[in-house]
Amino acid sequence: MTGKEYMIAALEEVSRVIMEHEAVLNRLDNAIGDGDHGTNMARASRMMLKLLPELGKTRDDMGAILHQVGMSCISEIGGSAGPLFGTFYLRAGMANRGKTSMEPADWVASFEAGAVGVSQLGMSAEGDKTMLDALFPAGRAMQEALEAGKSFQEILAAGAEAAKDGVEYTKTIQASRGRAAYIGERSIGHQDPGATTIMLMLQAMHKVAEEMKAE
Ligand code: ADP
Ligand code: MG
Repeated sequence: MTGKEYMIAALEEVSRVIMEHEAVLNRLDNAIGDGDHGTNMARASRMMLKLLPELGKTRDDMGAILHQVGMSCISEIGGSAGPLFGTFYLRAGMANRGKTSMEPADWVASFEAGAVGVSQLGMSAEGDKTMLDALFPAGRAMQEALEAGKSFQEILAAGAEAAKDGVEYTKTIQASRGRAAYIGERSIGHQDPGATTIMLMLQAMHKVAEEMKAE
């Protein structure tokens, strides 16, 4: 069971890792989009690093923390990634409204709810070469690990691994959603920036869970 200490620490690490990868994410988006994915996500991450300490002090409701993060993504990121990542957090927040702690099953359910939210808003599915090619496989892998009785760390490790495979998969397919869809076949061979961000998020969540021995 994890409380807000893990939530805040994990979101802070996610923010730091995304900021470290700003240039990488821009370069990936430059190849198949407009080159701003790193800038967009880093802007949101800077905002999160300002917001999170205060949220950690004033809120005990895990759903409320996620909700606030989602709202801030929507107002701060802009472009298509703002509403998409914002929706991911809002849906995760809805799944945990009123909870002051989360079981591993809650984390897995949150990921799945978030992925469904993104696909509804984006009118997108797996195979479109978007963040969903990391999100959905990660959700499935985490669900499997959960059902196999694995620890929270192992669940997150499985999610991060599946997201990494998902990122590799995006290299092999043509984009049919988002800006990358405009370049059609020429998108093949390039990895999706949004899927890369999801992989980084899961890797960061896993790292913090190991460090904090979260359960
Ligand atoms: P923009 O496309 O507005 O420039 P970003 O560059 O920040 O925004 O984000 C691009 C990422 O958003 C893509 O790599 C992809 O993963 C994700 N994305 C774009 N459109 C969709 C969609 N319809 N559904 C899911 N994800 C999408
Ligand atoms: Mg872009």
